[in-house]
Formats: sequence, C-alpha cells, structure tokens
Amino acid sequence: MRCPFCGAEDTRVIDSRLAGEGDQVRRRRECTDCGERYTTFERAELVMPRVIKRDGSREPFDEQKLRDGMLRALEKRPVSIEAVDAAIDRITRQVRAGGERELPGRRLGELVMAELRELDQVAYVRFASVYRSFEDVNAFREEIDRLQGSSND
Ligand SMILES: [Zn+2]
Repeated sequence: MRCPFCGAEDTRVIDSRLAGEGDQVRRRRECTDCGERYTTFERAELVMPRVIKRDGSREPFDEQKLRDGMLRALEKRPVSIEAVDAAIDRITRQVRAGGERELPGRRLGELVMAELRELDQVAYVRFASVYRSFEDVNAFREEIDRLQGSSND
C-alpha cells in the first residue's frame, strides 16, 4: 500500500501478528523510499448484504426490523427472548456466510420461517401467512395441511 508519509507506492511488511481477539492482523510496514514506519490493521469485512424488496428497491439489512417481525409473529407465544436472540444470530450468520452483496427479501423470509418453524408453529403460521400470501398461496396451503397432518399423528 501507498506510504502515508511520502506517497511512495512500495512499502515493505516488516512484522505481522494477530491482534484484538485474534480476528485482526497487525502489520508493521516500512516505506522503501523514505524509511518511515507505520502500522496497519487488517480484519475481515463483515458487511451485511442489502435486501432486495419485492418492488425491486434495495434497503439495508435491518436487524431491528427482522426482530420486530419475529416478535410480532411470536406475540403471546411461550418463547423466551433468549431463544429469539439465538434464532436471529443464526439468521444473520447465514446471511453473512452467503457473502453476497445483495439478498432477495424472499430468501431472508425463508430463513425466518425456518427458524420460526422450530420455535413455535403458531408463530410460524402467522409469519408465513403474512409473508407468503402474495406470491405463493398454494405452497402456504400445503404447509398448513402438512402442519395439521403432523399434529394429528
Ligand atoms: Zn515513504
């Protein structure tokens, strides 16, 4: 990288070690031109993708909005906030692990539904009915049938 002192393009790494909690690399660099030394830190960029909405517009990934949507579905249901937090953690980790810069809202909705299905089936149906009604009425109906079928076992 360019030397911040003289602008020369060639600098040399003279030392490299882990920093922070081990999630950063600290590098000591020396300019081959002016001889100045400086330190750089490098860490993985954990940027959440932008969410592509139904109308094609994009919006920033909003964890609060995700949480609000899940809590609305879970209203008056016997699910602890710890369980909700853990579910949100899993969702955000999956979104990040995808490494994409943009994520269809539909995909995000599917991740939420997969978590709600495990947490509470009533919340799952509430969320799915709002979420899926526009695009996939038949799939939703099949899902309800499947849930009713499995609770009769
Ligand atoms: Zn320099």
